[in-house]
Amino acid sequence: MSETDPRRRIPRTDELLTDPRLSAAAGGLSRSRVLTAVHAAQSLAREGAIAPEEVLERAVRELPDRAGSQRPVLNATGVVVHTNLGRAPLSDRAVRAVVRASGYTDVEYAVATGRRGPRGEAVLTELRARLPEGQDALVVNNGAAALLLAVTALAAEGQEVVVSRGELVEIGDGFRLPDLMTSTGARLREVGTTNRSTVADYRDAVGPQTGAIIKIHPSNFRVEGFTGGVAVADLAPLGPPVVVDIGSGLLSPDAALPDEPDATSALRAGAALVTASGDKLLGGPQAGLVLGRPELVHQLRRHPLARALRVDKLALAALEATLQDVDVPVTRYRTADPETLRLRAELLAERVGGRVRAHDGVVGGGGAPGVRLPGWAVALPEELAAPLRTGDPAVVGRLDSGDLLLDLRCVPPDHDETVAAAVLAAVQRAGG
Ligand SMILES: *Cc1c(COP(=O)(O)O)cnc(C)c1O
Repeated sequence: MSETDPRRRIPRTDELLTDPRLSAAAGGLSRSRVLTAVHAAQSLAREGAIAPEEVLERAVRELPDRAGSQRPVLNATGVVVHTNLGRAPLSDRAVRAVVRASGYTDVEYAVATGRRGPRGEAVLTELRARLPEGQDALVVNNGAAALLLAVTALAAEGQEVVVSRGELVEIGDGFRLPDLMTSTGARLREVGTTNRSTVADYRDAVGPQTGAIIKIHPSNFRVEGFTGGVAVADLAPLGPPVVVDIGSGLLSPDAALPDEPDATSALRAGAALVTASGDKLLGGPQAGLVLGRPELVHQLRRHPLARALRVDKLALAALEATLQDVDVPVTRYRTADPETLRLRAELLAERVGGRVRAHDGVVGGGGAPGVRLPGWAVALPEELAAPLRTGDPAVVGRLDSGDLLLDLRCVPPDHDETVAAAVLAAVQRAGG
């Protein structure tokens, strides 16, 4: 390094660490995390990417945000349950419940006696009240865990679970439910064909080796044409317990989603157990529900695996609040009034330009694949997509044949102005 090499002016680590501006910004961060930020800034200066004078400021910027690294996103895609964007947004009530539950709580403690109490009993009471008389409930970590636990507990090592070939689905990111079921040691007894299965197919497959009949809602696709499945009511008389994985978590029928199965109907039809997710159509936190016959729910609750799939107290708090809420965001967005959506789109277009056009939203998250939710979007140049995505808050829209579509269905109305401001900022950043 020559005498005049600017790299000689890069501040030393100890100088940076004792600089009051850095310590102020570092707050309660660990020394090793602050060092990582300092080293990153120094190496940028060594590579010549920044000037030596900019190292301190850069190190401050490299410190992690105190609120965590998950960046809030305004979901302008029109997809209500968007798995990549965290599925169901929690209601205000659920958020308050999470904050309240974040310290020490009586989640598993009976204040009256000062002894251990049943964990999350309030949620189970809420769930039982929403089901047909006499049914019990259990909450685990997610929908996949609910199915895993049911198969493990009912089809002990070497036993069979009978399932239709039309229901062997992949739920996303390469995860396939048949693999999940066989990972328990149970054997899969496939019946029928991709498009059709009959009661006779199931009856022929059932025997002393059968632990359970599993019925899975193929939530994210539809087979059309010459198709046929077997109703729960026709499977129940065959003998083995029928476990129905409904996926979405609807607790009772919804007229707007006629093809979407619900827990109450499945149990009335004779299902022994129903499994479902908490963060799809139910609109709550990530959780898995197991609902059904008390003796079977008890068997699952006492299974050793149940402890490994246990739901945390924050999710329990959010789920309880969600079940009590009249109006959760997922339902509000799913049933948003098209005229109001059009008005909001027009106001946005007035502020930022662009063309208002009809745009259907979807339920998403592998739910109700055939259902279109009529609405509106503002079409903007697709060059704005990247600057909007990388802004703070990020605004994520949908790309459609050269347009960026912003659909306000899943944006809280009091954030419309934030979307408008983000678009105007993006126009500037995109250089136009
Ligand atoms: C979504 C889904 C699952 C998985 O639920 P997670 O809560 O994501 O674990 C399982 N089965 C069906 C039918 C689903 O739709």
